[in-house]
Amino acid sequence: MKLGALGEFGLISRISAQVESADGVITGIGDDAAVTVLSPGMQLVTSTDMLLEDVHFRCLWHDPYRLGRKSLAVSISDIAAMGCIPRWALLSLALPSGIPLDFLDEFTRGFLDIAAGHGVSLIGGDTCASRHGLIISVTIMGEQEPGRIVLRSGARPDDEIWVTGTVGDAALGLELLEKGENSFSVTHGEQEYLVSRLLDPTPRSAAGRAVAEAGLVSAMIDVSDGVLADFGHIAEQSAIGGVIRVDALPLSSAFCSALRSRPASLHHLALTGGEAYELLFTAPVANRNKIAQIMKKCGVDATPIGIVTPSPGVSALLADGSSYMPRKHGFNHFS
Ligand code: ADP
Ligand code: MG
Repeated sequence: MKLGALGEFGLISRISAQVESADGVITGIGDDAAVTVLSPGMQLVTSTDMLLEDVHFRCLWHDPYRLGRKSLAVSISDIAAMGCIPRWALLSLALPSGIPLDFLDEFTRGFLDIAAGHGVSLIGGDTCASRHGLIISVTIMGEQEPGRIVLRSGARPDDEIWVTGTVGDAALGLELLEKGENSFSVTHGEQEYLVSRLLDPTPRSAAGRAVAEAGLVSAMIDVSDGVLADFGHIAEQSAIGGVIRVDALPLSSAFCSALRSRPASLHHLALTGGEAYELLFTAPVANRNKIAQIMKKCGVDATPIGIVTPSPGVSALLADGSSYMPRKHGFNHFS
């Protein structure tokens, strides 16, 4: 069955039938606007993201279930990077009228699965026809106590720079999809892992919230554009600089084995590869052990990768002490 046969309101009912009632939602999908209540004393934190077919994803590579998951995952990641608790989401879809209903059902299933996994409820959205591919827009709302929200602007000289998980995997996954796995020496399992890091990222929701609530971090961002570019955003907003130690960057075994014969690409992708959706944060050196403990409790690896400097400018140091400066720091839509 095609979407045309169901119509706009049929699709909205089909989505809302799968949404369960949730804490804090007075009125969800179905009225002109949703009504929600924040927990007592909390501030509202809001973020929005667009995903465009052939800009952010290709239907050829992205199965609808994982596309649904990723559509919300990137927004949950933004809330995590503020140290906040994700609560509610709005989902707006511009859909080619020929899109199969199975695709939309799988998309919705993926979206609602990751929502449930992170305590997010879908409270509304908008649905319209598109003449130029699939467009997905997600708005997320979260909450946190006023003093606990972590901005990009709080990094201080001599703070350590940290990153969770591993970096570069998603960017390499994209290269594998673009060039075909035969151009790399990867096993099938490694290929699956790297591609799934691109298609189904894991937002570090619990970890971001936990280090923020413990008051341990000074600035935080999620790695969407690449470690260098995203640390650059912290540096700019905090009016500091930093040195990132390339040999300290946490890399997965699949990433290292795929790039064994191309060490230059290894450094480049680790520093500039986007879409990792890991947390990059700064913290006083004295908090190192506490951060490690909290991350362990959250089941997330976190690694110190450098140091904040008082002078502006971000550089990357190789093991031999020479500095490594890629021409491009990371992803930018218009350059
Ligand atoms: P309006 O005409 O007032 O904009 P709509 O007909 O667009 O209302 O939407 C009706 C209801 O369905 C609203 O509560 C809206 O939030 C919800 N809704 C519309 N599209 C979606 C969607 N893709 N996902 C979830 N809720 C949706
Ligand atoms: Mg509408």
